[in-house]
Amino acid sequence: MSRHFTRAAAIKLGDMGERTLSSPQRLTVLGATGSIGESTLDLVGREPERFEVVALTAQSNVEKLARLAILHKAQVAVVGDERCYAELKSQLSGSGIEAAAGEDALIDAASRPADCTMAAIVGAAGLKPTFAAARQGRRVALANKECLVSAGDVFLGEVRASGAELLPVDSEHSAALQSLAGAERVAVERIVLTASGGPFRCWPIERLKNARPEEALKHPNWAMGAKITIDSATLMNKGLELIEAYHLFPVGVDQLDAVIHPQSVVHCLVHYIDGSVIGQLGPPDMRTPIALALNWPERRATPTARLDLIKIGSLTFEPVDAARFPGPGMAKAALRRGGNAPAILNAANEIAVAAFLSGGLGFIDIARVVERTLEEAEARGLIRVTETLEDVLDADSEGRDLARMVIETPH
Ligand code: NAD
Ligand code: MG
Repeated sequence: MSRHFTRAAAIKLGDMGERTLSSPQRLTVLGATGSIGESTLDLVGREPERFEVVALTAQSNVEKLARLAILHKAQVAVVGDERCYAELKSQLSGSGIEAAAGEDALIDAASRPADCTMAAIVGAAGLKPTFAAARQGRRVALANKECLVSAGDVFLGEVRASGAELLPVDSEHSAALQSLAGAERVAVERIVLTASGGPFRCWPIERLKNARPEEALKHPNWAMGAKITIDSATLMNKGLELIEAYHLFPVGVDQLDAVIHPQSVVHCLVHYIDGSVIGQLGPPDMRTPIALALNWPERRATPTARLDLIKIGSLTFEPVDAARFPGPGMAKAALRRGGNAPAILNAANEIAVAAFLSGGLGFIDIARVVERTLEEAEARGLIRVTETLEDVLDADSEGRDLARMVIETPH
């Protein structure tokens, strides 16, 4: 069975870039009010003549969405939560900007012709809109990890079929793209993603048991949305990123690794068969990888703080402690298992992180819930091949139900 689950040949991202984007570039930002959305629009606001904003979307933050839509002269603003429609309409009245609400409206917005879509909705909620954007056959700047984690082969199939250009926004994958430029597939030995180690890097397991949400939300280096910040504290974020890297780059699971690098200066290291290691360094500011994804293969100036290596002094690296942080190992195991296992892992993790944030689950129980959900899925024969987006959404929903059951079951 496992053979059947191997991916199709990965897309060769390094080959891209022949297409010159038209100027001004028609841009849609899915998840415009989030951390990535805000950083994207910060860059857009610095060169407004280069962009024509098509659609901006958010889940429920109407005030911010309306403000951004007016500021960037969007054609349409869409809010996922239908209950927010009246408020959005009222805030946009007189602006000439269309207002829409609901899941179908998000998909419609993602389908409006755009040269580039920044896919920055958090979680599996981003699947349908990002698929719709990919079906346009234009550029997708991909921040939403779940399209690759939960729907890897299916998503890449859509990308290939439509001829879309896929540019990773995640800093490690942007770094890998740059470090792999021009590389022959056979010359690449290993890809190593770096992880800051999060706020609990040095915490013993006894202390981790009592870690509180507000402590987990204090990331030492990066300012990000809540979900990914918790994933950075558990290191499940690195697990999700290993799965992303597997789909983006032509390497096997055993050629992928994670290493702790507390300074978050080196984002990825590509080891070559001749002993060379090529990496990418940059400040911990997402505007650098976002600018590259928007402008690839061109580089544009960004206002990020410049890296001062003398000031930083030393760059250090440590192994991942799998006993305290099982996320990366579990993600690799799910990848090896194949089929819908990564989608179930992701769904269980989303439920567990939400339960932790609302005070209903301990920190180290996040990983336990994910592991037990996968065991339960295996025991019930729910691990299957995914061939369509519907298969992925089914796995996502089954994973969520099982994870809720695991959380409610005393252990
Ligand atoms: P965030 O929580 O700050 O923002 C999420 C955005 O998605 C918001 O605009 C929100 O309104 C929207 N959204 C949330 N739930 C939705 C739903 N159900 N339907 C429609 N829209 C919804 O998240 P973020 O930190 O900006 O991360 C966005 C994505 O980018 C995530 O997948 C994350 O893993 C990835 N990413 C983020 C960073 C970062 O630095 N923030 C780095 C790498 C990758
Ligand atoms: Mg990352």
